[in-house]
Amino acid sequence: MSKPEDDTRANTPEPSQGQARVPPRQPVDPAEYQQRLDRVTELFESMMSTANELSTRRCPYKNRHDQCTAGFGCRNQRKPEIEGHLMTCAGDDALDYRSAWETA
Ligand code: SF4
Repeated sequence: MSKPEDDTRANTPEPSQGQARVPPRQPVDPAEYQQRLDRVTELFESMMSTANELSTRRCPYKNRHDQCTAGFGCRNQRKPEIEGHLMTCAGDDALDYRSAWETA
């Protein structure tokens, strides 16, 4: 029999109406935990590899909608498709975009 202080549910209040009941904690299997960590690491390594490769040619101010988020002028900026929205980026991701930036 476990001691009252060992019971993780002992101080857990009962859920009020509309709240989901939190299942009791299960013991952690170190091998399974390591397996999951390895899987997450593998997923992030893949994302980081793609991000590193893209960062060598895609401007960091270009969002996923090909809009410019820069707070400065750039020759690649075009009028937004919808007035009031962010400028559209006309960069082709093949050039060194930094030469297009207007710095002064
Ligand atoms: S317009 Fe210029 S600063 Fe803006 S995202 Fe494109 S290349 Fe980058």
